[in-house]
Amino acid sequence: MLEVFDLALIGGKVFLNDEFVEANVYIKDGKISAVGSEELPAERILKVTGLFVLPGFIDPHVHFSLKLGPHRSADDFYTGGKAAACGGVTTVGDFTEPCSTEQEIREEITRRVEEASNAYVDYFLHLTIANPEIDPDHLCRIALDSGINSIKLFTTYSSSKRRTDDWYLLQLLKAAAEHHIVVMVHAENDEIIEGNARKTMKENNGHLRVKDLAYIREPVTEIEAVSRVAMFAKWTGSKVYMAHVSSGLTIDHIQKAFGEILGRNLFIESCPHYFWLDQKLLYGEEGYRYAVCPPLRSYLEIEHLKAHLKSGHINTIGTDHCPFNLGERVVYKDRYELMPNGLPGVEVSFVLMHTMAGELHMPVERLIPLFSRNPAKIMGILHRKGEISPGKDADLVVFDPNAEWTITQSRMHSANDYTPYEGLKVRGRILHTILRGHVIVEEGEPAEEKSLGKFVKRGEKLHA
Ligand SMILES: [Zn+2]
Repeated sequence: MLEVFDLALIGGKVFLNDEFVEANVYIKDGKISAVGSEELPAERILKVTGLFVLPGFIDPHVHFSLKLGPHRSADDFYTGGKAAACGGVTTVGDFTEPCSTEQEIREEITRRVEEASNAYVDYFLHLTIANPEIDPDHLCRIALDSGINSIKLFTTYSSSKRRTDDWYLLQLLKAAAEHHIVVMVHAENDEIIEGNARKTMKENNGHLRVKDLAYIREPVTEIEAVSRVAMFAKWTGSKVYMAHVSSGLTIDHIQKAFGEILGRNLFIESCPHYFWLDQKLLYGEEGYRYAVCPPLRSYLEIEHLKAHLKSGHINTIGTDHCPFNLGERVVYKDRYELMPNGLPGVEVSFVLMHTMAGELHMPVERLIPLFSRNPAKIMGILHRKGEISPGKDADLVVFDPNAEWTITQSRMHSANDYTPYEGLKVRGRILHTILRGHVIVEEGEPAEEKSLGKFVKRGEKLHA
């Protein structure tokens, strides 16, 4: 008897092995079952003639339901996941709250998985540590036992007790190399930042303003810390993932000094806001709309960042999606030290970068892996996600590369109440998003009320 598939995508330009091939994609039991030119029977058929059929995007860096003092980021795993799905994202990487001890870590993983039980898209977790009081080798084992193979830490934020010191980082990297764990680092120079902040507060009656961000976290705070951590990566051979690299000048230095490990065991993530939003915005009346750490950068740094995107020195695009509503920000307009930081991005990440690639005359074939295979490989989920290939999860995006539209808040699906990209014209539109065979977004709108997202456990060893 002829096999009847659950779903078929007919007539699209399918992204296979880094190029577009006209083919039909057939799905059965949540997996990609066949890709080819023949027409086969299916329960449901989506005609996608001339449209791109891409692997479901992976955003390795989001913060759903993040607690920050008295604040909580606007999106939870349901609303944030819905926004993600509308942006073509089928898998997100989120975080545990920072933990120090074994007991805290075990309780926090359980709590976080519980909190994510309403996830709209699939997710995996990074285990975040701060002031760790646990043997690094033991930490790696706990992570792997819990289905987690990435550990996140900060070299800064000593003032909010979230910093991990260099000694521990080095011991952790040695252990992580043994266990094939990737260490994700938020790298900024803590002492310079704290010193700059103290000086600025003294001059300004004990307060900070959003516009002070540019000076407090001046570019060298990132350049130095990323270079230092890259040195540890080179020394230990451990896999290191540099989160949200903001300045093109940072990558200039990394490329020169550590070019031979970049893309091998050192990976650079950047975010759409560092390409699209200029530091000048911090100086305006509404600077509070743009407060994020590391801060927005100058024109020169943005130009360098674009050049590195085009040259292939950036390995992934994560969004650091962490929105807070305007009301929670505007009250701290002149007391930046109390303002919750972070920007939304998960819903427009791909269209923003697709538009940017067009402006840079960068082939889209070279952009797509930053949203799919690269994060899948680095984070150890390539056996299930990140490519269109029989046997893998049927996570797919149908994308119209020629549609033009304008980003505006009323079109967004996040629970956040503003977008920093208001009024920006972009090229390309997500039409349909498919998660393990379920059409969760249709014609750009959520098509599913249920939360179908699952915890993607990783435990197994990362691919070499
Ligand atoms: Zn983050």
